[in-house]
Amino acid sequence: MLHTPHQSLQAAATVPVQRTPERDDQAGPWHGDAVCRRDEAGLFFAPSKEPTAARLSREQAAKRVCARCPVLVECREHALVMPEPYGVWGGLTAAERRVVLSRRRRAKTAAAAETPAEVSRIA
Ligand code: SF4
Repeated sequence: MLHTPHQSLQAAATVPVQRTPERDDQAGPWHGDAVCRRDEAGLFFAPSKEPTAARLSREQAAKRVCARCPVLVECREHALVMPEPYGVWGGLTAAERRVVLSRRRRAKTAAAAETPAEVSRIA
């Protein structure tokens, strides 16, 4: 049986609110080329009560899989746009994605503040 990316049996049993990508036809063409399509090792999502050292090791292993994935960019952007709250997507952990999203928000705010309308309002 084929699993969708990130849909390990282990994760499905331990992370009840986890969202997974929709089927290929709904998530986009990148989904079908995902290297993690068969995540038998359960690398991409944490089991419950995972010790920190085990989590770090598992995440590094997942990132190594992502590094050879042809759809890394599409997957990462999907996870950022959704946003996906759990798991390793596009080579980034959930915490790393929060950092990227925070940087994007700050950059967007800074860009908005530099628009002529905003500059004249401030001046
Ligand atoms: S980049 Fe990583 S998480 Fe995304 S589809 Fe590829 S292997 Fe899976």
